[in-house]
Amino acid sequence: MVNSYYYNGNQYIPSTSDDSTKGFLIASAASSAIMGTLPLFGKPFERQLAKEHTRNYLYKDAFLNSLKVSGLDKKGVQIIPMELSRTLNDYALGKNAAYFPKEKVVRINTDKISIAGFHELGHAMNDITGKFGKFLSKLRWPGRIIAGWMGTIALFSRPKPKDAPKSGFDYVKDNCGKIAFACMLPTVFEEGIASYKGIKLARKSGLAESLIKNMKKLYGKALLTYIGHATATGLAVGAASMIMDKFTRPTKVKEPDFTNFFF
Ligand SMILES: [Zn+2]
Repeated sequence: MVNSYYYNGNQYIPSTSDDSTKGFLIASAASSAIMGTLPLFGKPFERQLAKEHTRNYLYKDAFLNSLKVSGLDKKGVQIIPMELSRTLNDYALGKNAAYFPKEKVVRINTDKISIAGFHELGHAMNDITGKFGKFLSKLRWPGRIIAGWMGTIALFSRPKPKDAPKSGFDYVKDNCGKIAFACMLPTVFEEGIASYKGIKLARKSGLAESLIKNMKKLYGKALLTYIGHATATGLAVGAASMIMDKFTRPTKVKEPDFTNFFF
């Protein structure tokens, strides 16, 4: 057999650079196909958020009042009403709202999606008064960056036989899908905690229970987007890694099996 070698009593054929190229192309295609499903997870949330524009008046006063109720105003948090902004972006259009921890401001169109504002104040609480929430929010960007690295590492070839001694990096390569998923979890938890605090704050601000119920629906859909993102990331990286393993791991040459002749 061409180029074969023995390791640990077994004969192996190493993969060729052609195999690596094929594996790379298929792995890349598979992971982008999986990541391509992401917008689906966000659809229910976007749909409801757009609907909320028409019943914003039910939430606006309670939301503006909730800044005082939460005590965040005394900590320097401000709400920036994006409906007054002269530049058109997702915040001004009421498609998005966000808390910016450095400036301690919530950018939100209070004429359209006040319902989302309680969640953003939940982020502010995580950032300013929450210990665990703050810890999680600090992990947010490093987590995303490491998950991104895992996507690259998944595409490396696996030149060692499966039973060869493993280095730390081999473990990372073998588990990159799981690591990528785990790196996305702090964001999912922090989002969940922000929503939980937001709902509590809305109640404290006097929002009617029927409106709270509607709010929970929206927040649930928002969390689904984050869960979808974490899951798709883990699966995309894991699939790429599995495909690269199939294409680039040296193949063990099976010994002829004589036992069959006796039965
Ligand atoms: Zn959020």
